[in-house]
Amino acid sequence: EGLLPFEHEPYHTFQDEAVAARQRDSFRAVRDAYAGRTFPLIIAGQDAQGSGTFAVRNPADTRETLWHFQNATPAQLNEAVAAAQAAFLEWRRTAPLQRATIFKRAAELLRARRMEFNAVMTLENGKNWAEADGEVAESVDHFEVFARETLRWAQGKAVYPMPDEHVTTVYEPLGVVACISPWNFPSAIPLGMALGALAAGNTVLWKPAGETPLSSYLMVQLLFEAGLPRNAVQFLTGTDDVLGDPLVDHPGVRMIAFTGSKEIGCRIYERAARVQPGQRWLKRVIAEMGGKDPTVVCADADIEAAATGIVQAAFGYSGQKCSACSRVIAEGSVYDDLLARVTEKTRALKVGLPEENAAIGPVIHQGSADRIASFIEAGRTSARLVLGGDTPDTGDRVGGYVSPTLFADVDPADPLFQQEIFGPVLTFTRARDWEHAIELANDSEYGLTAAFYSRDPHKIAVARRDMHVGNLYINRRCTGALSGTHAFGGYGMSGTNAKVGGPDYLFWFLQTKTVAQRY
Ligand code: NAD
Repeated sequence: EGLLPFEHEPYHTFQDEAVAARQRDSFRAVRDAYAGRTFPLIIAGQDAQGSGTFAVRNPADTRETLWHFQNATPAQLNEAVAAAQAAFLEWRRTAPLQRATIFKRAAELLRARRMEFNAVMTLENGKNWAEADGEVAESVDHFEVFARETLRWAQGKAVYPMPDEHVTTVYEPLGVVACISPWNFPSAIPLGMALGALAAGNTVLWKPAGETPLSSYLMVQLLFEAGLPRNAVQFLTGTDDVLGDPLVDHPGVRMIAFTGSKEIGCRIYERAARVQPGQRWLKRVIAEMGGKDPTVVCADADIEAAATGIVQAAFGYSGQKCSACSRVIAEGSVYDDLLARVTEKTRALKVGLPEENAAIGPVIHQGSADRIASFIEAGRTSARLVLGGDTPDTGDRVGGYVSPTLFADVDPADPLFQQEIFGPVLTFTRARDWEHAIELANDSEYGLTAAFYSRDPHKIAVARRDMHVGNLYINRRCTGALSGTHAFGGYGMSGTNAKVGGPDYLFWFLQTKTVAQRY
């Protein structure tokens, strides 16, 4: 098929001063190119203005307004759906090789602009260099993986034969797919959902989170530059009262691909079930939602490796990942040692500007910081505060800064143990033994990722069998899934388990046609 063997996109080595200088310079270039500008909607291949605009601010210091985006109107939502339906009639007929070629070309274009995409993300959502770089590398991987998946699914699948009929099973696209994404992975998440749709031959309504629209806008433009027909994606920004329920309810939408909170995911799942007047299908919904991800540490584990993995997974991007470790569950005999090591490593994390590559930056906005603070306040009486719990000194910067915070002796019934906090807050809970630790890990409505540390093959075998999560990591941290390799998606209230980046993801965006022919 002319595609070279797949390799994951390597990360930049910012320890190299020349590489670091390029990243540093890219912030100036990005501000020169984009700061203060107002970006359009894209409907039917045309730029469009909405009914007014909204400002995107730098979460590291909200006194800085970065750029502006449009508020789409209800009429523009209707136009966008109609344009996507019209474009579907052509895009669905494009040769799979043509789609794959566009994605390959997009991968090349993105490789050349990684520093720029990193910088835009850092400015929009406060990721530091390595976190932003990891995500943009994942986006390159998505292009490469989806190019291959396009061709693989185009082959159909074999069925058990019959002597007097020729029977084929082939996969066909669905129609218009609304892709609704969160701010915490503003590059790889909207791209993964949109590529799932496009690879399968569907057209896309691309609705980024309001905090991070430029990361999406630049990606859509890059796809057009790579050869995607300009009407195959409609780019819509605006308020949730226009692009939330009305987009989900629209009878012209065939499928909704959502990643975000449990609250909104459940709302979409429920609303999409209602058949609207004029609607000729049952809407399909994939909804990837939150997590409350545990790390289990057995008495026989490599405690130092576990401590390192826990700190990276809990505090990377201030814990604002659905895959972030938020609960440590350790056997009694290693609990204190592990807690001491994690405390020491966490204390070493410096809070500062993501643009200067600080280990810990701000959370996404003050509202989020306030919500995290209310969990911390309650925890002061329900558990033992070991570290943090305060607001770090960041000078006169205006942003939602929260110190990395550790609670020990947390009861499994405590909200700290059960609710997704989505910030730099980690809990420790003592287990009677390793089997009890697995029970506690499973004591959650969520089931996204988990890590399990042990050297004992029997314990590992039980963990493999019994841990109720979509992504289980043994003797490594629970963040950092790679497209194409670690198909990503959870169990329980973590969502529909669509598994982006995995071998079955495209199936969600397709319907199956059986054709039996006699001669
Ligand atoms: P959110 O649910 O608040 O928003 C997500 C998107 O939904 C945004 O684009 C928002 O504008 C839109 N939206 C809001 N109201 C809507 C409505 N009524 N109908 C349709 N869309 C609507 O989530 P967030 O704060 O942006 O993201 C954080 C959450 O995302 C966390 O819970 C995190 O765990 C989760 N997440 C999950 C995964 C995963 O793969 N499972 C990945 C990343 C983030």
